[in-house]
Amino acid sequence: MYSITLIPGDGIGPEVTHSAKRVIEATGLKISWDIVNAGADVYKDRGVLVPDEVFESLEKNRIALKGPITTPVGCGFRSINVLLRKKYDLFSNIRPVKKIPGIETPFKDVDLVIFRENTEDLYSGIERSTSEDSAEAVKVITRKASLRIAKKAFEYAEKNNRKKVTAVHKANIMKLTDGLFLDCAREISKTYPDIEYEEVIIDNMCMQLVMNPSRFQVIVTTNLYGDILSDLCAGLVGGLGIVPGANIGEDMAIFEAVHGSAPDIAGKNIANPTALILSGAMMLNYIGETEKADAIADAVSKTISEGKYITMDLGGSSSTSDMTDAIIEKILESKQINTVLV
Ligand code: ATP
Repeated sequence: MYSITLIPGDGIGPEVTHSAKRVIEATGLKISWDIVNAGADVYKDRGVLVPDEVFESLEKNRIALKGPITTPVGCGFRSINVLLRKKYDLFSNIRPVKKIPGIETPFKDVDLVIFRENTEDLYSGIERSTSEDSAEAVKVITRKASLRIAKKAFEYAEKNNRKKVTAVHKANIMKLTDGLFLDCAREISKTYPDIEYEEVIIDNMCMQLVMNPSRFQVIVTTNLYGDILSDLCAGLVGGLGIVPGANIGEDMAIFEAVHGSAPDIAGKNIANPTALILSGAMMLNYIGETEKADAIADAVSKTISEGKYITMDLGGSSSTSDMTDAIIEKILESKQINTVLV
């Protein structure tokens, strides 16, 4: 029995986390969910954005599945998401972007993984007004953070038989900060002689990605470029509704979709649950439940390629719960087949 923290979040968060929980349970995995919440809704009710029980639960379980959280303006926090990533030093933000058959896109085969540094860069929170008409933000890049995210990207490439790692930067302009990031990526690349290493400037990278995304396998970059590239890459494979993610540190991991709380579609039972369900599959891989993770990914892929029960963003008309039911059905079918084969 695993003990896992579940944070429903705001907007579409409660709907898609509920779907992911149901799908994970359909695999037969025994989980004791510790359900705690943070964000705008909690703030409205209790006047606190992140109640103590959230931190206590995370610190006890060291693993969480999390919906998107909205940080209300003027509540004293910049972003709860950034707070959690920094507080627990969840330095790797890993976002696999993979074409799912059945989703109409101009590209045949997109299969890349973004490794975004998750703790520094322009997210340092150091910003100030220098006069009435000017303001500054500080971009922080350190050797420690750059080396460890580059190492994670290369380790992943080696383990998953990926042949190339692309470091994305703007060191031609930000010579000290992005220059340091590149030095670190180069240093790590030398320890992986069998993996090709290339460097691409962020603006060129955007063009290359929309023209020929299949030429990329593993991308490693700083926090802000990684954030922007994640949404761009989501657009290559069918949108934010399908791209999962993980925030991983040395001894804690929080799994969440790339998308935000999508207030425009919240509460209508029309959000695509795929991104959070696949984040759940990443979580099962992390705890070593790889067969169950594969069963979920397979069920999602079959449901989407059949096209009968898919949400509006993918061109269908199914609700969040109908699509979730269809995915669960596929998991149960494959369990029956496996039982017969045994
Ligand atoms: P936040 O500030 O919380 O990041 P946002 O509105 O800026 O929120 P998203 O929540 O990521 O950004 O939404 C961007 C767009 O993508 C919206 O139009 C939203 O409806 C759509 N979208 C995001 N997630 C999903 C989903 N799971 N299913 C369908 N559409 C989605």
